[in-house]
Amino acid sequence: MNEQVQPSEINAAGHLTIGGVDTLELAEQFGTPLVVYDVAAIRDQIRRFKKVFEDNDVDYEVSYASKAFSSVAIYQVMKEEGAHTDVVSGGELTTAIKAGFPMDKVSFHGNNKSLAELKLAVDHHVGMIMLDNFHEIDLLNQVLEEADTSADVMLRITPGISAHAHKYDQTGQVDSKFGFDVDSGQADKALQKVLANPRLRMHGLHGHIGSQIFELEGFELAAKKLIDIAAHWQEAFGYTAEIVNVGGGFGIKYVASDKPLRPEQFVDAIVKTIKKTAQEKGLPLPEIWIEPGRSIVGPAGYNLYTVGSRKDVPGLKPYVTIDGGMGDNIRPALYQAKYETVLARDPQAKPVETVRLAGKYCESGDIMAEAQPLPATKAGDVLVTLDTGAYGYAMASNYNRNPRPAVVFAENGKASLVIKRESYADLIHLDLPYNG
Ligand SMILES: *Cc1c(COP(=O)(O)O)cnc(C)c1O
Repeated sequence: MNEQVQPSEINAAGHLTIGGVDTLELAEQFGTPLVVYDVAAIRDQIRRFKKVFEDNDVDYEVSYASKAFSSVAIYQVMKEEGAHTDVVSGGELTTAIKAGFPMDKVSFHGNNKSLAELKLAVDHHVGMIMLDNFHEIDLLNQVLEEADTSADVMLRITPGISAHAHKYDQTGQVDSKFGFDVDSGQADKALQKVLANPRLRMHGLHGHIGSQIFELEGFELAAKKLIDIAAHWQEAFGYTAEIVNVGGGFGIKYVASDKPLRPEQFVDAIVKTIKKTAQEKGLPLPEIWIEPGRSIVGPAGYNLYTVGSRKDVPGLKPYVTIDGGMGDNIRPALYQAKYETVLARDPQAKPVETVRLAGKYCESGDIMAEAQPLPATKAGDVLVTLDTGAYGYAMASNYNRNPRPAVVFAENGKASLVIKRESYADLIHLDLPYNG
């Protein structure tokens, strides 16, 4: 039994369904490799996060960290759900603008926002600019002076918490490229600089400790640290933070050995820690913001592939090759990330062998799974990799000049194409002949 496939996701024909749509029909209609999202699952996660705050009766925002998956369609869904969203580039911001996403609900992150990106954000009245470094404060001031306007900002600080995750996924330890360091006095200096600038409206502080985190402890430590800093700011500078943003990083289940907590547990722990620490420090309870990315779209995403070649070498695990790979999901190659893959026509079929699931890209490291148990497969079979919705398509590349896959949203038995498959014409349309 694959724990990640629910009986409700299998139809009368025994096929895996997504959002009520048969995966074999999806593969037939849209081709493979294909990325499919179960939109109801996305909505459900957002609503669960929001509900915990509401049950705790605190002011809050749930801001979808859209670097996990950015597209016009996902911003439309976030708008419908009344969520905020984070962007980290002019490109993500432009996509949100195109989607008609309300700009006052956008937070702009990034450790090297360019002058052009800050201009774009200011021109579109982005709700919150998350200041990351002194250079950016100067650039933003320049943009604001030129436009003779002001902006809402928060300071990103490095909470100095390491969260027991994979080392590439950690962003909160002291030695990090993100945010202002606290102990050396940078964060205090940044606060003074912001408070002294009438064009900057200071709203609070932000800390993000990492990603794919399974323990509450890191969030509790970070939440407490942020409140400690807020208390210090009140005492030393008479500044009271209205918002404390603890970032994202809530872990999800990719394989059976992953034991994630529920959104309710993460948020409860954060809210309780902030309430308790604020009370101890005599601070008014700030608004609490979180920025889940992976946990919103990860479990809702599926990658569909068609099986092609197979290589059997006596004594070694066979290679079963799919028509995608590191170009549509680089996480196995980049982070040794693990996923579960099932057969679309019989997702609970008993495995008969353990194979290397190989991608089609010209890299020996393009192996989607080193040891994937599978039933008997043949060329033409459709395989579905589960929980691929976060940092999959978002990190897609054209390596080997392979076109990027199409993306489909499935909901209530209906499939909608939301990102077209790249064509060869798309691939070469930026190329120019060399006439040197
Ligand atoms: C990446 C990121 C997130 C989201 O992290 P997830 O692990 O996808 O939840 C949230 N906030 C910031 C600042 C980030 O950089």
